[in-house]
Amino acid sequence: MHRSHYDVGIIGSGIAGAALATALTRQGFTVALLDRRPGLLDTARGDHIQPGVQPLLERWGVLESLMLAGAEKRYGTRWLDGEGNHIVTIPVPDHPECPPYFLFLNHEQIGEVLLSRATQAGARSVTNVSHWSIERGNGHWTVNWKQAEDIGEFDCTLLVGADGTASSVRRTLKMDIERHRYQYPIAVLYGQLRDVPERRTLDVFVTADRIVSMIPRTGGESKLGLPIASEELPFWRDQPEDVLRSRLAQWCPQLEFEHVSFGDIYPPVSQQSKTYTGQGAAVLIGDARHAMHPARSMGMNTCFRVAGQLAECLNILSSGFSESEVLPVLSTFEASFSRTLAPQIAENHAAGLQMDTLSGGGFPQLLAQLRAAAKSPKVLQSMALRAAGVES
Ligand SMILES: Cc1cc2nc3c(=O)[nH]c(=O)nc-3n(C[C@H](O)[C@H](O)[C@H](O)COP(=O)(O)OP(=O)(O)OC[C@H]3O[C@@H](n4cnc5c(N)ncnc54)[C@H](O)[C@@H]3O)c2cc1C
Repeated sequence: MHRSHYDVGIIGSGIAGAALATALTRQGFTVALLDRRPGLLDTARGDHIQPGVQPLLERWGVLESLMLAGAEKRYGTRWLDGEGNHIVTIPVPDHPECPPYFLFLNHEQIGEVLLSRATQAGARSVTNVSHWSIERGNGHWTVNWKQAEDIGEFDCTLLVGADGTASSVRRTLKMDIERHRYQYPIAVLYGQLRDVPERRTLDVFVTADRIVSMIPRTGGESKLGLPIASEELPFWRDQPEDVLRSRLAQWCPQLEFEHVSFGDIYPPVSQQSKTYTGQGAAVLIGDARHAMHPARSMGMNTCFRVAGQLAECLNILSSGFSESEVLPVLSTFEASFSRTLAPQIAENHAAGLQMDTLSGGGFPQLLAQLRAAAKSPKVLQSMALRAAGVES
């Protein structure tokens, strides 16, 4: 029997929504999630969990489940030139509060681990929703939904929009947004190298023509990410494997693949939603609030942090809280977001702008920065802490 009132209703059960539901159910709150997707999350997205985020996942009781689901360890980030010459390795820092490695697991599996933990702890999750609407009641929201032939309804005191970059919750609640669309879409390809090293690293090749990122996937696979011009899309999407392989070999001759195939294309965007100022308690989290360029692998990790911050702020309340009790908590959350996360998002945008180029004329500025970093232990340490998501 489903209850009809929940403390928190979350629209969108991607990483941000599922992470928040995991955290809140552990704190004793009642949670309902709605999502329009019929199946698993898209695989071609964030799949590397920063060392600095892992203690949070451990507190939520999901770190071990991620390992059981097949998560693997990744060590530093190597920057190489087109010939495969090593420029610099950003190591994983030695830090007392987190492990000396990143974890990686396919995005959809991370989502499944979180969602099943939340539902085991009592959250209600409805997927494949074809339509939903929200209405204000007296001190709560009423959410109506339709799923195939089924219809349903629940009330919630706090409404959370976690429905991704094109958030319908944001549109419905008329929340303003600041947005920058980057010029070059990112093509994602999947491949398997002939020789997969045992100790896996994320490798970024700064070639004369393109920056190509080789991101480890579980089972020895790799995800390749590279900016392309829109008119190149038919090439990457439609050409046979040997043609894709030889194009990649032109840029990075030392990369030899067993197989490689086109995955998808994403138009990166940097956007930040403004705070909700209308009637009732509502907040956006995840990409709905802070979508960012994938250049620094921060999007999913920021989803975890924001879900953690919101859950921590809500922890002063108990299940059954009222709208008037939760409103000041949302103000606290907004203040902590502006203080700690907004600067990181601004920094990510600066990195996104730097990577938003095709040939970049051989990327002389970036190469000079990387070579200078290689010679400075202090700069390297600060880059390592930032990449790991650890405060210096
Ligand atoms: C190519 C690429 C590579 C990336 N690489 C990294 C990386 O290496 N590291 C990293 O940390 N991050 C990375 N990211 C970013 C990361 O994947 C995202 O920040 C993260 O997945 C956002 O999660 P979310 O839950 O906020 O949104 P989403 O994953 O978009 O989930 C939103 C959910 O809401 C649902 N939904 C949407 N609209 C509606 C609606 N109207 N009604 C109901 N449900 C709805 C969707 O079905 C979905 O399940 C990458 C992103 C891309 C595109």
